[in-house]
Amino acid sequence: MNNLSDFNCELAFITDECRKYIKYGKAADYIPVLAKADVNKLGVYIISKDNEYFYGDYDDLFTIQSIIKPLILLLALQDAGVERVRSLVGVEATGKPFDTFNYTDLALKSEHINPMINAGAIALCTLIKGSTFQEKTNRLLDFTRKLAKNDSIEIDTTVYLSEKATGNKNRALAYMLNAYKMINEDVEELLDCYFGACSIKVNCKDLANIAFALAHCLPNEIINEDDARFVNAILSTCGMYDGSGEFALNVGVPAKSGVGGGIMAVVPFRMGIGVFSPALDEKGNSVAGKKILETISKKMQLSIF
Ligand code: GLN
Repeated sequence: MNNLSDFNCELAFITDECRKYIKYGKAADYIPVLAKADVNKLGVYIISKDNEYFYGDYDDLFTIQSIIKPLILLLALQDAGVERVRSLVGVEATGKPFDTFNYTDLALKSEHINPMINAGAIALCTLIKGSTFQEKTNRLLDFTRKLAKNDSIEIDTTVYLSEKATGNKNRALAYMLNAYKMINEDVEELLDCYFGACSIKVNCKDLANIAFALAHCLPNEIINEDDARFVNAILSTCGMYDGSGEFALNVGVPAKSGVGGGIMAVVPFRMGIGVFSPALDEKGNSVAGKKILETISKKMQLSIF
């Protein structure tokens, strides 16, 4: 790898070049508060074993949204074990949007959902330890802080309340899980946990640190290697929803996007990357964020394939 300042210059060049892709996307608008995001924001943070590189709006805060899903999966694996996780959710890509319903008349089964779509993540919240859903949310918040090495991470209450007020599709998904007896928890409390977790505020550096821990670059006491392998495998097939195949071809590393505009990319045993750009494609993935990752991946030969 080049020396620190050389690569920071290159990263600045790559990021500025990718700015032109912002116009092909738009901010999430399923809740009013996200629609207000400044689409001109663009930031990147890379943490490798020896160096850190960053550029642009890397310390701007945005809500983690679906990037909390790999953390929900990890905590569920730690709290309940792989067998209980596997009995509640499947591991196959759905090829459908993140908030999809089951369109067939067939009974919904665990094998129809995976941990990276909303139904799967909502179901997995039930496996997180805690006598109340508030406690489960707090454990997810603490877990995020630990992985991001940042104790100041908080929940954005405005986004949380907005998700709660307008999240009828997620409400419907949770009731469907309940109707098919996949969960039997109080649906409103369960959704509070999911909405609260999606509303955790992070920046690119936080995402890069979380990805670095998942990449298992250094031995770490928070995530064991088996759990990291499980999560990274699911990320590489389902992390970018129905855009995961294209992302595997173009970037080639496990990654997770969120409608807040973040993407967290895990380069196993090498590095963690966080990017932020709120203009999304129709699948809910950051357009310029994907381009930055694609360019970095080609430049640094990051693809695992
Ligand atoms: N809070 C969002 C939702 O549940 C998260 C979706 C996403 O980031 N793709 O709809």
